[in-house]
Amino acid sequence: MSISILLGRRPLSGLFGRSVDMGAQMEGISRAGRCPLEKRGCGGCPMLSLPYEEQLKRKQAKLEELLGKFGPVAPILGMEHPWHYRNKVISSFAWGPGKNLVSGIYAQGTHRVVPVEQCLLHREVLDQAVAAVRQAAREFRYQPFDENRRTGLIRHVLCRHSLSTGEVLAVLVTASPVLPGARAFAARVKELCPAIVTLAQNVNPRPGSAVLGDREKILYGRGYIEDVLCGVKFRIAPSSFYQINPVQTEVLYSTAISAARLTGKERVLDAYCGVGTIGLSAAAHAGSVVGVELNRSAAACAVDNAKANNIRNARFRCGDAAAFLDGMAARGEQLDVVFLDPPRAGSTPVFLDALCRVSPARAVYISCNPETQRRDLEYLAARGWRAESIQGVDMFPHTEHIETVAVLTRRR
Ligand code: SAH
Repeated sequence: MSISILLGRRPLSGLFGRSVDMGAQMEGISRAGRCPLEKRGCGGCPMLSLPYEEQLKRKQAKLEELLGKFGPVAPILGMEHPWHYRNKVISSFAWGPGKNLVSGIYAQGTHRVVPVEQCLLHREVLDQAVAAVRQAAREFRYQPFDENRRTGLIRHVLCRHSLSTGEVLAVLVTASPVLPGARAFAARVKELCPAIVTLAQNVNPRPGSAVLGDREKILYGRGYIEDVLCGVKFRIAPSSFYQINPVQTEVLYSTAISAARLTGKERVLDAYCGVGTIGLSAAAHAGSVVGVELNRSAAACAVDNAKANNIRNARFRCGDAAAFLDGMAARGEQLDVVFLDPPRAGSTPVFLDALCRVSPARAVYISCNPETQRRDLEYLAARGWRAESIQGVDMFPHTEHIETVAVLTRRR
C-alpha cells in the first residue's frame, strides 16, 4: 500500500524528502557558510559550513555506526529545500547601539542578544512577524527587560506559523502585567503584519530561561492557530508542544505509519504521545488507538484534537507510559502495534519489559536521540527483537540532531 493511499485524506506527493542517493541539495550548497549571524556568536547551525549533502552523509554514517548492527539502515530522508523550515521563533529584546530596541537570540552560552533580522532556518513570514512586533514596540517606546537590574517591560516575542493555513500566532512576553496602550499597540501590529491573525500577551516575571509565564491575555484573535498534519487538524497555542519542522514531521509520521502496516483492524498504542499527533494520524487506518502522555496539558490537547477531528476510535490517558503498558501487560491485554516516541532520554526497562510481555506484532520506535535509542535497542535485541528497518529523517538541517524510525519485530 502506498503511503499516500495509507494516509488517505490528503495527498502527500511532493512532501517527501530525498535520500542521500538521490542527489545533492544544490541550493543548500550555495548558501552554506554564508550566514552573518554565525560570526556574531549564534550557535544555532553547527553544520552550516558543510554542504547539505555532506551533512546528510555524516548523519547517515553516524546512524550506521550506532544502529547498523540491529538491522538495515535506509538512506536518510533529507529535505529538498533545507531552509526556512522552522515554524517557531523566539526573539529576545535588548538595547542595541544608540538605545535602539533590537531583538534576536542569545549568543551561545551567554545572555547577550545577537540581533536577528533574518535567519536561514525561520519561515520568512516569522521574521516579518517579529519585525512587526519589534517595530510597534519601538513606536510605543516599550523598554526591554533587563534581568540584572530588573528594569524594563518586554522580554521576548514568540511567533508560530501554520504551514497549512499560513497563519501566524504572536506572543509578546512581558515582565509585568501592565502593557501601556495595549489596544493601539495590537492594532499597529496587525497593520504592520496582517499574517499575525492572533496576538497574545504573556506575563513572565520570573528570572531564568523559561520563556513563557503562567498568565496570558489575548489582545486579538482566538489565541491559537490551527495546522493540518497527515490530514488531521491540530490546535497550536503559545505553549503547545508541536514539532518545529512541519514538512519533515509529515515525512516522519508517514514513514512510521506506513511501517506499521495497518489494515484497519489493529489495536494500537501511541506511547509518549504528546498532543496525539501520531495516534490521531494513524487512527483512520487502525481499529482503535490509545495514547498515553505524562504532561497533563498535552494529554488534554490530545483529547481535544480527537474531538475537533471527529475521531472516535482514539482515546488518551495522562500518565507514565511505562506504568500504563505494564498495567496492560498485567491484565493480559493485547496490542497489535505500539508506537513509541520517547523524549531524548529514551525509554525505560519497565516500559521495554512490558513491551516484551504484551508482545505486539510490531513496535515502531521513533527517536530524537540515536544514542539512547541504541541503548534501548540493545535491551530489546537481547530479548529476541530485531529491526526490520531503520530510517533516519532529517528534521533539523544544519544542526547535529537526527530523528529515526526503527521498526521492530520479535522472533517468536
Ligand atoms: N509523539 C509526540 C511527542 C513526542 S515528545 C510528537 O511527535 O509530537 C515526547 C513526549 O513524551 C513529550 O510529550 C513528553 O511530555 C512525554 N513524556 C516524557 N516522559 C514520559 C513518560 N514517562 N510517560 C509518558 N509520556 C512521557
